[in-house]
Amino acid sequence: MRDMSFHITTFGCQMNAGDSEWLARAMQARGFSEAPFGQASVYILNTCSVRDKPEQKVYSEIGRIRSLTGNDPNVLVCVGGCVAQQVGNALFSRFSQVRLVFGADGIAQAPDAIVRLTRERFRRLSLVDFSAEYPEREGPLYAGTRVPASAFVAIMQGCDNFCSYCIVPYVRGRQKSRRAEAVLEECRAVLDAGAREITLLGQNVNSYGHDSGGMGFTDLLYKVAALPGLARLRFITPHPKDLAPELIRAFGELSVLAPRLHLPLQSGSDRILERMGRRYTRAQYLDLVAKLRAARPEMHFSTDIIVGFPGETEEDFQETMETMRQANFVGSFSFVYSQRPGTRAALLQDELPRKEKLERLSRLQEWQYAHAGEMLRALEGETVEVLLEELSPKPEAGLVIWQGKEPRGHTVNVTLTGPEPARGWKGSLVPAQITAAAMHSLRAEQVGEAR
Ligand code: SF4
Repeated sequence: MRDMSFHITTFGCQMNAGDSEWLARAMQARGFSEAPFGQASVYILNTCSVRDKPEQKVYSEIGRIRSLTGNDPNVLVCVGGCVAQQVGNALFSRFSQVRLVFGADGIAQAPDAIVRLTRERFRRLSLVDFSAEYPEREGPLYAGTRVPASAFVAIMQGCDNFCSYCIVPYVRGRQKSRRAEAVLEECRAVLDAGAREITLLGQNVNSYGHDSGGMGFTDLLYKVAALPGLARLRFITPHPKDLAPELIRAFGELSVLAPRLHLPLQSGSDRILERMGRRYTRAQYLDLVAKLRAARPEMHFSTDIIVGFPGETEEDFQETMETMRQANFVGSFSFVYSQRPGTRAALLQDELPRKEKLERLSRLQEWQYAHAGEMLRALEGETVEVLLEELSPKPEAGLVIWQGKEPRGHTVNVTLTGPEPARGWKGSLVPAQITAAAMHSLRAEQVGEAR
């Protein structure tokens, strides 16, 4: 075990991935170095309670740490994120190595708390209170480091929507928009540190500013888009009910705004959408997709789907399938509904056998895989600009192959033939012709100079 070393395990969404990246930088700024699992003195579990059996996953991870470290009292386990917010101090009594729990708003103070705990062996700290405003963190902490070609920047915390199945407003709190100037400052810092693409993050990004009465999301988008050095801009996750006409227009006006949108549908049945508390209809959703396509014809869409929500009939499910075909999704994250205690949907009768739900899910996923394959094959022959992120995990003798993303977000493995640019391949944008489509990615060859 190395002293002053840490290991972060991240569960769940891109919000958590972004939080973990910040935590890693904050720990490094305090003199800690990252270590492989089993060799660190501080373990940080950044947890998620959106999917099935979240607590069990966290308990089994703590058990793994305990067995690898022999329950060493010098090993410090910190549990953050949604499960920590829900389970709270009960984690202390269950696991002696857990000495810090922190929720979504407590993360800003977590690195300093860890420093204190490494000096004071018997102390325990709990940071699970919600703050009234966006919990601004120290930062941006990029000095002397090279950020990934594509960086996440959080613009808000929490959510006010209370969709009937969702635990997020309870574990991440009510929506708190971050100050626009703080967002822009961090965007400038990641660009200065070498990023070319920024993804703005939030549970419901397009309601940014609704809570504070400050700048709205589209205005923020235009300001970020104007920053020098930015090649591509994305955001996740928007809510269909808040997708304003000016945001649709932005897709036609801002060339740096990537032509890809992840727009959660959840169900294609109006009856189920109402039970979910989503506040849009299937027709309204499809209308948004049509308008976005009119603003940006090359746009690809992906979505989230919950299969087997309480009361879903075969007819409701068929409406979801039909909506997916009409929206022409290139990808979807689809899951069988699982109950979250404390949510409104947990009170609904859920009579559909799990076997039936799984059968619906597999029909939906089969269609999605086949359709995504067709959509990727349709891109063969196109020339796209690929933002290179890392060496391809599948090397081929005698070839230089890098992996990156094209504007619609598809992974591309590019064979590089030109001279390496001064900034290096990582973070360079390379024109490439797509030569073949695989199941989940594309192959391409460089056809022009990297920039
Ligand atoms: S919009 Fe709905 S599903 Fe998304 S985080 Fe908020 S409550 Fe949950």
